[in-house]
Amino acid sequence: MSRSPVDPVPLADDARCPCGTGEVLGSCCAPVLRGQRRAATAEALMRSRYTAFAVGDIDHVMASWHPSTRPLRSALEESLGEESRWLRLEVHRTEQGGPFDDDGVVEFTAHGKREGGRFRLHEVSRFTREDGVWRYLDGTVQRDGR
Ligand SMILES: [Zn+2]
Repeated sequence: MSRSPVDPVPLADDARCPCGTGEVLGSCCAPVLRGQRRAATAEALMRSRYTAFAVGDIDHVMASWHPSTRPLRSALEESLGEESRWLRLEVHRTEQGGPFDDDGVVEFTAHGKREGGRFRLHEVSRFTREDGVWRYLDGTVQRDGR
């Protein structure tokens, strides 16, 4: 099934959250995607962004991206429009990124599938918090194939 970024998959609160915490969407990423709750930590924001990518919620991907590094919506829609599906997220480590920090780092591997097979994205992402709001700043893709 293809997922169009302009037509997000409706979030069922009792479904298991794609981000892999083991919690249901309604008590994990869904309230963050809907703007009902702020992500308290950089890791929580990172997980909500993964979930947004997984369900095609381009509004949350944009809103959670720092304005200084945020791509154009059209470019993002184009990249999300490619036939790929996110399968699983592994968070390897975090640095700072807590409720009393202004910066945070999250290292993760996101596993996906597209025509031609499975792929993975291993990235060290940087986050920054302004006025209590965590946002994604940028990331460095790790090429060790982890
Ligand atoms: Zn989640």
